[in-house]
Amino acid sequence: MADPNELQAKLKVLSDAYAAQLPEKLKQLELVWSQLPRGEWDDEGFETLHRMVHSLTGSGKTFGFALLSDVARNLEEYLKQFVQVKTIPDEEQRKRIRVLLSELHQVTLHRDSGDQSGLIAVAPPNLDTADSKHIFVVEDDHQQAEELKVQLGYFGYDVSVFNTLADFHLAMQTNPDVVVLMDINFPKNSRGGILAIKEMQQKRVAPIPVIFLTSQIAFEARLEAVRAGGIAYLSKPVNIGSLIDKLDSLTSTLPSVSYRVLIVDDSETLTAYYAAVLRQAGIEVKVVNDPLNAMATLLEFTPDLILLDIYMPECNGMELAKVIRQLDAFVSIPIVFLSAESDLDKQLFAMGLGGDDFLTKPIEPQHLISSVTSRIQRSLILRSFMVRDSLTGLLNHTAIKDQLDHEVARAKRQGTPLTFAMVDIDFFKNVNDTYGHPVGDRVIKSISRLLKQRLRETDMVGRYGGEEFAVILSNTDGATAVKVLDAIRNDFSQFRHLADGKEFSTTFSCGIADASYFSDSTKLGDAADKALYKAKHAGRNQVMLAEAPPVSGSDFV
Ligand code: GH3
Ligand code: MG
Ligand code: MG
Repeated sequence: MADPNELQAKLKVLSDAYAAQLPEKLKQLELVWSQLPRGEWDDEGFETLHRMVHSLTGSGKTFGFALLSDVARNLEEYLKQFVQVKTIPDEEQRKRIRVLLSELHQVTLHRDSGDQSGLIAVAPPNLDTADSKHIFVVEDDHQQAEELKVQLGYFGYDVSVFNTLADFHLAMQTNPDVVVLMDINFPKNSRGGILAIKEMQQKRVAPIPVIFLTSQIAFEARLEAVRAGGIAYLSKPVNIGSLIDKLDSLTSTLPSVSYRVLIVDDSETLTAYYAAVLRQAGIEVKVVNDPLNAMATLLEFTPDLILLDIYMPECNGMELAKVIRQLDAFVSIPIVFLSAESDLDKQLFAMGLGGDDFLTKPIEPQHLISSVTSRIQRSLILRSFMVRDSLTGLLNHTAIKDQLDHEVARAKRQGTPLTFAMVDIDFFKNVNDTYGHPVGDRVIKSISRLLKQRLRETDMVGRYGGEEFAVILSNTDGATAVKVLDAIRNDFSQFRHLADGKEFSTTFSCGIADASYFSDSTKLGDAADKALYKAKHAGRNQVMLAEAPPVSGSDFV
C-alpha cells in the first residue's frame, strides 16, 4: 500500500509540472483567440477556444489554482453564448473577452497557499483487511470446545480454544485479529462471558467481533450480550450452519485482485493526477490521452470501470461511450464521465448516451476513490447475479459449463493437466423427506462452503444441479484430484448436521475424469458423469476415477 506522504510528494510534482505548463497554455489560448476571424463565424476556432478554457476550469483547482478555475469558469460561461447560437461577438463583447483573458494571466500567479490545498492526502481505504479466519473459542466445557474446533476446521477456520477467561484475557493482550466465540456461563459467574467482553470492549477503539454461544435464552441475557457488543447470539447446541453463515459474513474479505480503471482524458496532467490518486488506493490504472486509442486499450486491459472525459478533440466522451456500449463485452461496464461541465442538461444527455454517473472537476481525491470503488463493487455484485447460484454463491450451471469449455481449451493449448469432478449428495431425497426442505438447503450450503474452502483459489466450483456440484481442478491430474476429493468426502461424512435438535450426517459420491484422456469438454463431462454413476452403484460415499478410454486405432491415423 502506498504511503500517503509519497502520494503528497507525487502530487506536488504534478502540481509543479502544471504550473510550469501554464504560461504556454495561456499563450496558445491567446493565439487561438487572435486568429479568430472578426468578420465571420469560425465554428472550429470557437469550439477550440471554448474547450481550452474549459480544460482550465477543470484542472486549475485540482492543481492548486482555485482562482484560475474561477476566472476560467466565468470566461467559459461567457463564451458559451456565442458557441450556442454561432454568432460573432461584437466589439463590446470582444472587449469583455479580452478582459477575462488578461485576468486569466494575472491569476496564474495566485497559487493557493500551502501550494496544494486541492491536493489532500488520502488515507487509503482499508483494502487489505486481514483475512481473519482465526477464531478464539472461549468455553469451559472441554468437549464442546474441541467439537467446535473440529467442525470449524472443516470450513477452513483456524481455531484456538481457551477453557478459562483468564487464559483468554492473556491471549487478547496482543490485540490479535480474531473473531471470538464466547460462552456465557462460567463456573464462577453465570454471566462471566458477557462481563469479560464488556470490560475488554471499553478499553478498545475498534470493538472485538464477538458471537455469544449459550444455553441461556432469557431476554435479559440477550440484551446484555448486545450491550457488550455481541454481533450474534446463538443458542446451544450450536447449529454449525448458522454459525458459519455469521462467521463468513464477518470474515469475508474483498477480492484479492485489485480493481482496474481505465481513464480516457486528453489532459496528460489531469490523468496523471487521477491515476496517482487511484493507484494510491490500490487500484490498477491505465491512462489513454488520445481517445482514438481508447478501444485497443479497453479490449486488452478489460477494466472494471471507465472514467471518461467529455470534451476531447477528435472524438468526444459521449461518442466514445456510445461506441463502447455497442460491444457485447462492455454493455454493463460502469462509465463515469469526468468533466468541468456543470450544466445539468448536458450531464443528463451524457448519461442518456450510456454513462452511469457524472463527476464534476475538480474532484476531491477521496471523492474520486469512493465513487470509483463503490460503482465497481456494485457492478461486480450485479455481474455475480448473472453467473452465481443464489443459494450457494457458487458458479451456476451455465457459468461452470462455460468455464469448463474455456479451461479444457486452454489446458489442451498449453499442454497442462486438468481434471473435472462431479459431486452428488447421497440419498439426498431422504434428507428432505425426513427433515424438510430448509434443512436440505442448509446441507447444500454446507457442502458448497466445504468445497470452496478446501479447494484452491484457482479451482472452480459450480452448482451443477439441485444437489449436484461440478469442480474444475486446474493443473491437477486425475490421481491427485482423487486424493483431494476423497479427503473432502471423508470430512464431509463426519459433519454433524442439526435439525430440530437431532443430529444426522450425510455423504456424497464423486466421479472424476482427467482431461488428458478426453478430446473435448463434452466427452470429459460425460466421463465424469459415468464415473459418478459407478461410484453410486458401488455403494456411494466414494470417489471414482474414469478409466482412460481404450485407444482406438483411428487415433493414430
Ligand atoms: P442418490 O444417492 O442416488 O443421488 O439419491 P438422491 O436422493 O440424492 O437423488 P435424487 O436425484 O433421487 O434426489 C435428489 C433430491 O434433491 C430431489 C430433490 O427434491 C432434491 N433437491 C434438488 N434441489 C434441491 C434444493 O435446492 N434444495 C433442497 N432442499 N433439495 C433439493
Ligand atoms: Mg443425490
Ligand atoms: Mg442427484
